[in-house]
Amino acid sequence: MKKYVIFKDDDVGKDIDNLKKFLQLILNCNSKAAIGLIGKYLKNQELINYINSLDQDKIEIFCHGYSHGYLPFIFRKIWKKNRIIHVEFDRDSKSHNLSLKKYRIAESKYLKKKAICFGPPGNIWNDNVINPLIENDFKIMFSWRKAKQDLFTIPLSDNLKQSSIDDFINDYNKKKDRRIYTLQFHHANLNDKQFDLINDVIDFLKDKEKRIFILPSELLELSKNDKEIFKLISPIN
Ligand SMILES: [Zn+2]
Repeated sequence: MKKYVIFKDDDVGKDIDNLKKFLQLILNCNSKAAIGLIGKYLKNQELINYINSLDQDKIEIFCHGYSHGYLPFIFRKIWKKNRIIHVEFDRDSKSHNLSLKKYRIAESKYLKKKAICFGPPGNIWNDNVINPLIENDFKIMFSWRKAKQDLFTIPLSDNLKQSSIDDFINDYNKKKDRRIYTLQFHHANLNDKQFDLINDVIDFLKDKEKRIFILPSELLELSKNDKEIFKLISPIN
């Protein structure tokens, strides 16, 4: 049975140099990645040109919100009660719809391709986001839990937090039986050691684990013919 790996990188718009370094590494290793764009950054011409220059068969853009509006955990905890600043997709349907519409407007103005995948900032979302996502033509999202209605989800597995391949393999082994292994990155936060580690991680996943790199839209296609994959990503109704 074929096993897959998805690389998910967040916060596109922040630290373009690190983004370029990260994607060059991915492409040099002949692998693939889904990258989450924050809509508000589509004012930066360097970023726009760079995104449009990418081979979309290898690098797929997904929507990572418009404003992001995500608070570090400690602040969320402190401000949870009065909600001074909201997390972008933990609000009501109307606000979610507005965010997604703003993203679509910026996207259609500046980018060549329309995203079908969504990854909420901080991976935080509530059920009010489902209808707006469907209305705005999103088909699949990254998530720790399944969605309802017509929205497919890509299960998350881990974040690249390790600095050595041994530590990575240790953590990976706890989840090695999963058919879809989704590894999250934040290119803006990667240190030199981790940039070096990515090569080893890719080699390990490809050569030792025989995983196939896949993109969100490819996974959705695959689910039409693979019943087990369909069960893993299909909505609960
Ligand atoms: Zn983010």
